Amino acid sequence: MHFNFNKHLFSIICLLITNISFAQSIDSKDLLKHLEFLSSDALAGRKPLTAGSMEARSYILNELTSLENVQALYPDFIQRFSFTGRNKAQYEDAANLVAFIPGSSSRKVIVVTAHYDHVGVGKPNAAGDSIYNGADDNASGTAALLELAEYFSKNRPLHSMMFVALDAEELGLRGAKALVDDFPYPLDQILLNVNMDMIGRSDKNELYASGTHFYPYLKPILEKAAAGSDPTLRFGHDTPGTGREDWTNQSDQGAFFAKKVPHLYFGVEDHVDYHKPSDEFKNIQPKFYSNAANLILKCILALDAELTDQNSGQ
Ligand SMILES: [Zn+2]
Repeated sequence: MHFNFNKHLFSIICLLITNISFAQSIDSKDLLKHLEFLSSDALAGRKPLTAGSMEARSYILNELTSLENVQALYPDFIQRFSFTGRNKAQYEDAANLVAFIPGSSSRKVIVVTAHYDHVGVGKPNAAGDSIYNGADDNASGTAALLELAEYFSKNRPLHSMMFVALDAEELGLRGAKALVDDFPYPLDQILLNVNMDMIGRSDKNELYASGTHFYPYLKPILEKAAAGSDPTLRFGHDTPGTGREDWTNQSDQGAFFAKKVPHLYFGVEDHVDYHKPSDEFKNIQPKFYSNAANLILKCILALDAELTDQNSGQ
């Protein structure tokens, strides 16, 4: 009896390990490694055009261009753009980093985005820390973008996919606006924008998928993909007229929304370290983060499989 029980237990554990390694397709070690580097003090908060931003660019480009089956849609995978910021500050040569993976059965494109910039160095906190590391905002989304690109470079999607690390979100969604203004295809070829911004921690173990208010046909697909998920997938924060509670225009998906391109935004509710020097690697919750990234992968896989080219935001 005792022996059999152990044997049973052994096979159950084997089964669990096998299932986990198949189901959890994003490598949590790599995911955390990317996040730790991008949010390190050395990158000084990744403000556009600073030395830290250039380091982030090199790291992201190195990861994206080392993947198999990715194509460049802009010279050297870089969409360069300029803009005028607050107080007429001129920003030349800001850069979105773009990798393209052709789909096997549709020319429609799922555009996966995450902004890699943050606010840089600023007012010190009580502890004297002046580096706004932006670990959750948005090294977390950027690192997930890299791992999703790697996944789909090895597992060809049905729809084409574009993976874009966007610059200058914190200065007014500038990178996303530049992307939709100078998109390599007609905008109606975009099936969906999937944006990630702040997916690294949640005390309530909740990840939001925002945007289904406008695109209700996405909801049943997501509900099925996320049934019984850890973390819990919640919907909302997309009701017009609810002020700060409506996230539609608060991150890069807003630039797609303005052009009537369907979007989904994945993120968490604001936390105590939001836009503070304490938004650091040590305050990321590795288990939540890795599970959230894998849940987003599951959702994208379901959307890729179930959305037809006839779907639109109308
Ligand atoms: Zn952000």
